[in-house]
Order: sequence, then C-alpha cells, then structure tokens
Amino acid sequence: MFPPPYASAGHLHVGHALHYTQFEIIARFRRMNNFNVYFAPCFDNNGLPTEKYVEEKLKITKNTISRSEFRKLCLKESKEVEEAYADRVFRALGHSYDWSLLYTTIGQKAQKVAQMSFLDLIEKGDCYRAEEPTIWCTYHQTALAQAEVQDLKRTTKINEILFDLEDGKKITIATTRPEFLSACVGIFVHPDDKRYKNLVGKKAIVPLFNQKVPIMKDEKVDREFGTGIVMICTFGDTTDIEWWKKHKLPLKVCLTEQGKLRNAGKYNGLNIEEAREEILQDLKKENRLKSQLDLEQTVGSCWRCSTPVEFIVTPQWFIKTLKYKKQLIEQAKKIKWYPEFYLVRYNDWVKNLAWDWCISRQRFFGVPIPVWYCKKCKKIILPDKKELPIDPTSQQPKKKCKCGSSEFIPDQDVFDTWMTSSMSPQIATRWLEKPQSFKKMFPMSLRPQAHDIIRTWAFYTILKSYLHFKQIPWKDIALGTFVLDSKGRGMHKSKGNAIWTEDLLEKFNVDVIRYWVGTATFGEDLPFQEKDLVTGTKFQTKLWNASKFALMHLENYPLEKPKKLEEIDLWILTKLSHLIKKSTDLMMHYKIGDSTKLIDNFFWHDFCDNYLEIIKDRLYNPDKRGKEAKLSAQYTLYHVLLNTLKLMAPIMPHITEEIYQSYYAKKENKKSIHISAWPKEIIVDKNAEKIGDRFVEIVKQVRKFKAEKNVSLKKEIKLTLDIEDKLLLKTALEDLKATLHAEISFNRFKIELT
Ligand SMILES: [Zn+2]
Ligand SMILES: [Zn+2]
Repeated sequence: MFPPPYASAGHLHVGHALHYTQFEIIARFRRMNNFNVYFAPCFDNNGLPTEKYVEEKLKITKNTISRSEFRKLCLKESKEVEEAYADRVFRALGHSYDWSLLYTTIGQKAQKVAQMSFLDLIEKGDCYRAEEPTIWCTYHQTALAQAEVQDLKRTTKINEILFDLEDGKKITIATTRPEFLSACVGIFVHPDDKRYKNLVGKKAIVPLFNQKVPIMKDEKVDREFGTGIVMICTFGDTTDIEWWKKHKLPLKVCLTEQGKLRNAGKYNGLNIEEAREEILQDLKKENRLKSQLDLEQTVGSCWRCSTPVEFIVTPQWFIKTLKYKKQLIEQAKKIKWYPEFYLVRYNDWVKNLAWDWCISRQRFFGVPIPVWYCKKCKKIILPDKKELPIDPTSQQPKKKCKCGSSEFIPDQDVFDTWMTSSMSPQIATRWLEKPQSFKKMFPMSLRPQAHDIIRTWAFYTILKSYLHFKQIPWKDIALGTFVLDSKGRGMHKSKGNAIWTEDLLEKFNVDVIRYWVGTATFGEDLPFQEKDLVTGTKFQTKLWNASKFALMHLENYPLEKPKKLEEIDLWILTKLSHLIKKSTDLMMHYKIGDSTKLIDNFFWHDFCDNYLEIIKDRLYNPDKRGKEAKLSAQYTLYHVLLNTLKLMAPIMPHITEEIYQSYYAKKENKKSIHISAWPKEIIVDKNAEKIGDRFVEIVKQVRKFKAEKNVSLKKEIKLTLDIEDKLLLKTALEDLKATLHAEISFNRFKIELT
C-alpha cells in the first residue's frame, strides 16, 4: 500500500523522496524474495490542499467562481502536477510501480468507494447527521475533525472583568476571550467554593451587552483559575460546549463562518482580534477591566493553516468512533507495528478521542456527500448503491419522497479527504470492481506511512476496516523516516526551508540519493545535510572500480567450482553468508538502514581492503600459485561480487544492474538483477572464519607498521609470528606471505624491515 502524495504542492521535497523511496526499496527486496508484489501508485488530489493550491496559483477563491468550474480547475491542475511528479520525481528516482494500477483519490472509482462506505455505515447505524457545535477553521471556512487539530502554544492575556449583579453588587470574572461577551449565557462557580456560596441562583449583567445570565454551580470549575468564577459563552472552548449541553443553556451565536463577529451590536463584522481589542478598550473606558496578565496557553489550531479553531453550530455528518474505542485498540494490537513503540502513539490517540469523526467539509473540491434533503418534510434521501458515484448538486433522486414531494435540496458539502483515504486498501485492491482481487489481497501485507499521520491515515483506515469488515486492513505497518531540515525543523514549502527533489536530482545521480535513503532508519527523524550524500558518491565509485577489477579477472573464469576452496576464500564466503543472513532478517523487519550499514562495512573492509588485496597474487601468478588456487579465487570472487550487487540492488538499482548486465546476466541466465533471486547463505566455515580473522588482524598490524615507517606497502619485510599462529595459519600461509610481501617465521611477534 503506497501512500498517495498530494498532487498539489507543485514540488516534492527531499523528505518525500526519502519517504517514498524507502517503501520502494521494500518492494524491490520482496520481489527478489519471490513475492508477487502488488504495487499500485496513486496520487492524492482530493481536498483542501488541492483547493488551496488552485486558489493561490490562479488567484481565485472558491467564492468567486461556480462550484463546477472550480472543480474542473482543480482536476486540471492536479492532473498536470501528477504527470510532472510521475516523470520528474518518481520515474526519475527509479521507482518500480505498476503504472497500470494508478489511482487517484478523486477519481471516479475512489469516489464510488468513499460514497459506498458512507451508505454502508448509515445502514449499519455508524454514520449520522447532527446539528451540533463542531470544530471549525475560519480560514478554510469548514468543519474539521479532531485529528486535524494541532496544539498551538501562544501567549495571550487573561483579563479580569467586573460584572454587575442584579442586586447592585459586583463580581470579577477572568477570561481570555472577552470578544465573546455577547454570547455569554451563564456563569459558574464551584459548589464547595465558600467565597461564592450566596451567588448561586442570582443573575449577573454582562458588561457592554447587558444580557442577564444565571449564576450556577458545577464541580468542574477550577477554583484556582482566575477568580474561580467562570463565564460560559457559545462557544469559547470545549468546556463551554460541555456545560452548555449539560445545563441546557440557550445558544447565542456570535461568530460567522468567516470568523467575524455577529449579533454583537457595534462590533459586528470585526474579526476576532479586532473585536477583542475594541471590547477591551470599551471595558477600560467603563472601568470594568480590573487587570490584565500574560498567560501561556495551548489552543487547538487547524493543522494546515495554524488558525486557532473555533466552535460553530452547523449540521454535519459524523462517523461513530467514541463507541468503538476498545475495539479499535484491540484491532491495532493484531497488526505488527515497526517500530513497535508507535503502537503506543496510536493507543494514546484513541484513548484521548473526544469527538466522533466529523466527515463533512464545507469545501468544493472533494467527493460529494451523496445525499438530498426533501424540501417539504426535510427527510434525508439517499441514492441507490448502484447509482454511485453521484453528485447530488447535478443529479436528482430517482424517486419522489415518501411525503409525495419531488423537490429536493442537495447536500452541498464534500467529504473529509480521509473519508476516501481511509479506504485506500479497498481502492488499491479494487474492492468494488474486482471483488476477487480484493478478497485475495485483503488484509494487505504492508502499510508504509509517516508517523505524523498515525492519528489520521492509520487510525481511520483501521476504523473503516473494522466497521465494514471486522478486519484489520494490513498485517504490517511500517513508519518511515521523517526528514527534517539541517536545523531539525520540518520541511515545508511555506517555511522556505524545503529542498526540492528535482533540484537534488540535478546535482546528484539517483543511486547516490537512494544510497542516502538506504542508510536512514525507519521510524526515526533525520536532519538533511547535503554532505551526507558524499558517502553514497564514494560508495558508488568504489563499487564501480572494484567490480571493474573483479570482472577483468573473471573474463576467463570457466564457471566451475574448484575441488577445494582456499582458506581465505572460505573466510570471505563465511563473512558474506553471515551478512546475507543478517541483512535478510533486517530487511524483513524494515530495518533498511541497519542492513545498509552492514553491507557497506563488508564491502569496504572485508571485500575491498582485505579480500581483493589477498587474492591478487593468486590471480596474477597462477604459474607460481597453481591453477586450482586461481580457480578458487575466481569462484569466490564471482559469488561475492554477485551477491554484494544483489544485496545492494534494491537500494542502488542502476549501477548494480549496469554491472550485472555487463557480465552476470548471460552467465546467470536472468534478464535483470531485479528479478534475480535474493542471496542465500553459501557456506559457513567456523574454522576458516577464525583463521581469516587472525589473518586480517596481522595484515592490519603490518600495514600500520609500514605506514609508520613510511615505506611502501610492497616493501619486503621479515615477519615473525607467535608460535601459536603456526598451526592456525598453516593453510593460509602462502596468501599471507604474498599479501604482506613478507618472509615469515614463528617465535614471538615481531616485524622488521629487511
Ligand atoms: Zn485552516
Ligand atoms: Zn418529504
């Protein structure tokens, strides 16, 4: 299950490049492990980001153009972006999707799935419409779900305001939202607060607006906050909503959907900030502002625009979530989480849910909510499932309403984008078009995604699979690496700190970028530094040069196995076998970074620094060392290089394929390294490993000695080894002499220049 990138930003930054490439590496790895990988690419062109992109690019707003015109523009613009992404980013990064399986979240098929989900959940009783206070973004002018709200820390002022009581006495109320005075509908004190016992039952007069409101008691009043007297306005925060419902208080609407004041006399039309200033000024004039203190507070804000959210009463559609908290925690437990600790984050989110999922959005571009309302009796009219997808604003119900009326009002809203994305396993596996294919692939094997959308994408997908099928959507979920800028901040177009993938591809070749991806650890944050790409460049050059050397010596290799393998050959094959085992295991658990580090270490040190140097004598001097000894080296070289290439193939697909094609393709009789079999352990010889380890330890010491003496590595030396080494190194002595250009004897370890 590939995460659909937004086809709206115009560019994908390097964080996206890493993210998607990480998952692509897994697909390549599984393919080489003989899995039949279903790998459908997709684009998310649904919802607010597309609308905002179009509004900004074309300098229009959804209010200045007709709904259908606007939707056409969104489709056109996102199509252009998708094509550019497909070529300039995903194909350029060497991604191996099956493009015939491409889907988009606003495509007809996806719309049908989202609408079918809606109708099915209404049938099951898990989807309902209610006119309630909902979370609202005044910038985007739409309802939001709890998952779209993020904490915003800010400094505000807490204002102590004098209220008159009917009997002429005065009380002081502390509030951070004086702009809501016109919507004040009640005042609360704590039932045990001795200071205010005699207030309960009395009425207070709201300053500037003069409405009389009752003073009541509630145990949830925080006696320590401000003066311990709280005013309730409809609605300043979630507590207001709670008490408003509990105490059945009247509703006084004071905000428009654009966040301007209404029903507030001379303050009408002001935005929240302006109204707050003016109201405070006027309170000051009336000597009602007793004090103002700074207050650090955390408020909810829209995750896309950071505007603090408001609460507005509007009719909206909801999916039940609060009822299923226990089941949703149970379901997630059945899924394997990589890394495991992210399950905790999911559980915390589920436990803290306070709202059912609001799925209707007051926007244009999205999947239409397939509903009409009877003009006469207000009944909800649903389409037939066979008619889906439908747009109620341009289509009519097929039948009259039961009341006899044939006049209908279409629902103008669209679904929350997650309404569709939560069905991505169903869309990707063609739930409605190819039920057989869906049955075969559901639950899917893997959901790779980013950790910042656990509470949305992961959560909603698990929710939908449970509500529709009582199933988990996938067996594994892997949280990819999250790229930050060099200062550790999230990359974002609006912050100006994003590094674009297309720019990076101009500067570095794709395998070098992919090598960098291959070193990242799943589930962790990674600050981006361009210098980290240098490691990949070096690796690539070394791989190319080492392969050139090896293949030169394999030209006359007769593809046969020697009767006996030399000790050092057994040693490198053993090292390789260990590497294959560990790397395979790590890759199966999505630990690409750890695997790459092991391969890198093996390649540079065991293979290039040591093995290639050790066998040179046998390769160049078969007359001296014997044909069998050369054949043993060739056999080993053939397999070590081939397997190293295969281990790196998912990460650096181009250079490994190039080397493979230049030699191995014909010998192995496989068209491409990418459909060849993933390496298996070849041989594990513990004794040879011990000998080889001691061998390279001596090589290291001698190299150090020669470096310190400032002589060439080819300089002849006299080497005396410990007597214990005599038996151990017996079978590798010829290689040792040749590698070190040494005359060897045994006694106590000593190196001398001759
Ligand atoms: Zn917003
Ligand atoms: Zn009716």
